[in-house]
Order: sequence, then structure tokens, then C-alpha cells
Amino acid sequence: MLSARRLVVKIGSALIANLETGEIRGPWLETLIEDVARIFARGQQVIIVTSGAVAVGSSYFNRLGRALPVEDKQTAAAIGQVRLMRAYERALRRHGFGVGQMLLTREDIDNQHRRLNAASTLQQLLKLRAVPIINENDTTATAEVCFGDNDRLAARVAQMVNADVVILLSNLDGLFSEDPHDNPAARLVTEVRCITPEIEAMAGHSFARHSSGGMVTKLLAARIAMDAGCKMVIARGNKSYPLAAIENGGPSTWFVPLAKATQCTSANSAEDCSRRSSEP
Ligand code: GLU
Repeated sequence: MLSARRLVVKIGSALIANLETGEIRGPWLETLIEDVARIFARGQQVIIVTSGAVAVGSSYFNRLGRALPVEDKQTAAAIGQVRLMRAYERALRRHGFGVGQMLLTREDIDNQHRRLNAASTLQQLLKLRAVPIINENDTTATAEVCFGDNDRLAARVAQMVNADVVILLSNLDGLFSEDPHDNPAARLVTEVRCITPEIEAMAGHSFARHSSGGMVTKLLAARIAMDAGCKMVIARGNKSYPLAAIENGGPSTWFVPLAKATQCTSANSAEDCSRRSSEP
């Protein structure tokens, strides 16, 4: 993380918002933004991909904690996005940063012309010390063309601007050998170099029960990031100063791309490609 020039940090809904009340978790956000400011001060750049618009906007519908029909979700996103941005802006302003909101869809990133425009806007924002805050444009994205989770959106953004690291802040310490809710003896995988069928099987069950992504989409994001030569890390984000915790060696799973010429083969499969915390 220290050697990265550009980092993409993805914040899940359950971190930024209290899912029961729809309120933004202001004190936690302050600590995250302190981390972000410290990383900028070292000469590195941070792009934030944030969820939470639907969770925050749902309070308008008096149906907190229950699933909303699609059209209400899209409306909740429109309302919640404004509150979300206000909170990010307030927190970043304290550290002398501006913010720039970018709402993207998969079509924006798949289309070369729009992708280049988005990439150039991102570069300009960073030059102006305005931290890019990205979310999927839920009001226009339809089921057929949406990411539906911001894990893959974060990886695609990283690919688009040649970021070096994607950080997915989750409600788990990382990828486990089994569902840690069911089996307390499940082991944390600390490093993955190839996404093998064994690694995929570990993510088979959606461990993160309150997020729209879960481990499956995190692995899809890892594949996108690694193919782009970018590292990715999954770590628990719900504590204060979550980025400092990763830097200080807190529990996490790192996905490290192999050198360009090396292929994932059965010769360097699961056991060679992943390390578990129980191993030296
Ligand atoms: N874009 C959605 C929101 O802002 C969240 C998608 C996700 O959970 O990854 O609420």
C-alpha cells in the first residue's frame, strides 16, 4: 500500500450507514477520511467508490431493513446519494479537500468513448485535490446492465485509471476457507496469487450477508483487478481508521497478480498460490 501511486477504496453500505436507521455513521467516516488525508499527504492518490445511497435513502420509505421494490430503490438512491455526498464533502473539507461526484453505469465503462471521458474527469479531479466519490448510477442502471455491486465497479475503475491497489472494506476480515459464521475454525486466507477452483469454492457461500455483493462478487472484482496487474485487498472496515489497520498488518486477504509472463496452471495452483494465516 505504501508503494502504490493510486488507490481505489470501496466502502460498503453497512460501513457508511446504519442499516437499521438509515443514518450515516459520521464518527466512523471521520476516521476513514483522516486515513485518506494521510495517504494523500504521502503523495499518493485515493479514489473512493461508495455504496450506501439506497440504505440512506430508504429512511424516506419507512421500510428500513426490508427490501424495496426496484423503482423505490432507485428513488431511494436519488435521495440517499445527496445525503451521502454531503457527508463526504463535510468530512473532506475539514482536511482541505474538495469532492467530485461521479455516477457511472456498466455501459459507461464498457463504452470506450465514455470510459475515456470518465478517466480524464477522474485525473482532473485528482489534480485539483477534489477526491472522486463514485457510485453506480442506480437511477438509470437496469438489471441487465448494472454491476449491482460496487466491488466490480471499484475494480473496473482501478483498471480504467491504472490504479495499483483496490481496497474492498467489508464486514469480514477477508476470504475464509469456510464460512466463519458456521465454522469458527475457518482459516483466513492471507494471500491469493491465482483464483483457482479451490479459491472459488471458498467464496461459494455468500459470507457477507448484509451486502449486495458478498464474497462471490469480491472474487470477480479480484479477477478484474489482477488481470489489470493491480493488487486487491479485502479487509474488515467497520472499525475506526480502517486503512491504517491494513497498513499496520491487520487481518486481510491480499490478491497479488502474477508477473505478466506467468500463467495460473495446475503446477502453481491452490496450495502454491494461496497462503493461510495458520502457515508460517
Ligand atoms: N449502489 C448501491 C447504493 O449506493 C449499492 C450497491 C452495493 O451494495 O454494492 O446503495
